[in-house]
Amino acid sequence: MAWQHIIYEKPEPHIARIWLNRPDTANAQDTQFLYELNDAMDQAAREDDVRVIVMAAKGKHFSSGHDVRERDHHDNQEHWKPIGNSNQHRRAGAEGRMSREEELYTGFSERWRNLPKPTIAAVHGKCVSGGLLLCWPCDLIVASDDAQFQEVTVAMGIAGVEWFAHPWEMGARKAKEMLLTGEPIGAEEARQLGMVNRVVPRDRLEAETLDLARKIASQPTFATKMVKMAVNAAQDAQGRHSAFQTAFALHHLAHSHWMEVYGLPVDPSGIHGSVKKSYAEGDEPFRARQNARNSQ
Ligand code: ZN
Repeated sequence: MAWQHIIYEKPEPHIARIWLNRPDTANAQDTQFLYELNDAMDQAAREDDVRVIVMAAKGKHFSSGHDVRERDHHDNQEHWKPIGNSNQHRRAGAEGRMSREEELYTGFSERWRNLPKPTIAAVHGKCVSGGLLLCWPCDLIVASDDAQFQEVTVAMGIAGVEWFAHPWEMGARKAKEMLLTGEPIGAEEARQLGMVNRVVPRDRLEAETLDLARKIASQPTFATKMVKMAVNAAQDAQGRHSAFQTAFALHHLAHSHWMEVYGLPVDPSGIHGSVKKSYAEGDEPFRARQNARNSQ
């Protein structure tokens, strides 16, 4: 199947560049988008001449997060070969929801983090919630000066995105502020926090990212693989993996809670108008509950 939302190219020897290419939705991630991206990452990992992988984005923004407007996501998922062991997404209740998110969110991001080659994300514009699940797994992040990183899940009644890297990306104190306020973090502040390696002017983002990729591509491949494993192991020795599992369980407690209350996996009172409308479209019980709530 030809990819629709992802472009794969080799701008120069030893470098694969993967473009997020769904600009009309600010690179919102639906099922197809994520499987295509995963396929592209796999291809770059498999091709022996590729030494460094760059992830960049077309359009105004890096990624607006998960595509909550997607309909028929269970059918869409059937078109793809599962990458993990969890393929029970059609099952009722929390079992199905958790299985889908294990595959598409935590599963993909964890795999990309552990690819045996260095990866660099080039981030511009907005990178919101699920968008963080694309750039955070990369080894390095180059941001343009207009980049903004934001987490809006708490307003939707959810305790952070599924792949809960916040404390390791910026430290516990700032992670709490990012989550509790939902306020964006600019590129320069992200660099000072250690989440971003370099900040460059918007029109230099592509060139500066390639320069960095070229430098790393000149290093011995086995050494770049091992040093990546060593740093990732340091995070895991700090308890990263077990903390992720706890956060993911809490994330699903929240989804189940809102399903009990509203019949939706998030609190609709905290989400933006157009997204709220999209959640409610075609959902008669939801509208009835909202009307009942509003008339109280
Ligand atoms: Zn979720």
